[in-house]
Amino acid sequence: MKACDVCGTLNFKENNYCIHCGNKLILEHVCPHCGQYNPDVAIHCVKCGKQINPIKIDDFDILFSEYNQNLLLNAEISDEEYNRLLSKIFARAKYSNIYGNTAKEKILNLASIFTQCKPKSRGIERGYIFLGNCIYYDDRLDDSVQISTLIHELAHYLLFDIIEQLLCDVFKVKPSTTLQTFVWYFLTLPEFKIMNEYCAHTVEGRFIPYGYQNYGSFNSLIAQPDFDKSSLNDMVVFGNTFANEIIVYLEKYIGVDLREEIKLQYKKDLKIPSYDSLNIETNDCLALSVKNSVLLKVLWDIFKLASNDDVLEELEEIKEGIELS
Ligand SMILES: [Zn+2]
Ligand SMILES: [Zn+2]
Ligand SMILES: [Zn+2]
Repeated sequence: MKACDVCGTLNFKENNYCIHCGNKLILEHVCPHCGQYNPDVAIHCVKCGKQINPIKIDDFDILFSEYNQNLLLNAEISDEEYNRLLSKIFARAKYSNIYGNTAKEKILNLASIFTQCKPKSRGIERGYIFLGNCIYYDDRLDDSVQISTLIHELAHYLLFDIIEQLLCDVFKVKPSTTLQTFVWYFLTLPEFKIMNEYCAHTVEGRFIPYGYQNYGSFNSLIAQPDFDKSSLNDMVVFGNTFANEIIVYLEKYIGVDLREEIKLQYKKDLKIPSYDSLNIETNDCLALSVKNSVLLKVLWDIFKLASNDDVLEELEEIKEGIELS
């Protein structure tokens, strides 16, 4: 039996309309393709065989299934739902958890609440990288440098996580490395890398003293000769919008006192400010509902792009990297 959501009358599961008030009942187990009534647990329709309930996304065929295509194409998210999603992500960290003897320890502990952070003391690249679900940090560097780059990589992680959680809601599934692979593919496409980098730099800039940021990773992106400038402004505004969402939450954990400690750490490390700047800057933000409808549209476009057979090899490589991290 199922209760009518208007008058509460109990109706037989097979009824399409309430026997009391005539309200259209939610057709939970009725196949949208052929109208067959299915048992609660059916993943595929017993009559036409099409997928009617979510399956764990553990390979690319499942990810790009017709079922998921329909979900993403028709996806909508209200401001309330989105804010609930953000609160859920940030609820993992409580201010009282941010312990540590130094500012760097506190920032490292904060980042570790969200994702794993592993020390890396050798490698081609100095500094930090974020790969899928892990932040690698180089503990040979000065604390101040570690702080700024940890915050930067944490911002990358949080943007990644926001998109991942949003897709989990859309596809009604739990996170998986296959889904993370798609998020990674999306965020590292040349256009969206701009958004991603701009967001990370803006978040970082909120918490470290003025003049000390190194914008190399952003400026080198837009300095590339084949860089397509047509979407630059849109991407920067997009990135700034995400950054402001993340900053509001991170300010609760990196409060006034910790920001003071960070400043002192820069003095202690005798860092000289470079007063570098981003070669393009914006204060513009999109309204939440506008940003989210653009985001869902863009995710749909990239989903179609990523489902092409010739992208599969690249996806497999990304997935392998994420699983190894
Ligand atoms: Zn009714
Ligand atoms: Zn069917
Ligand atoms: Zn970055």
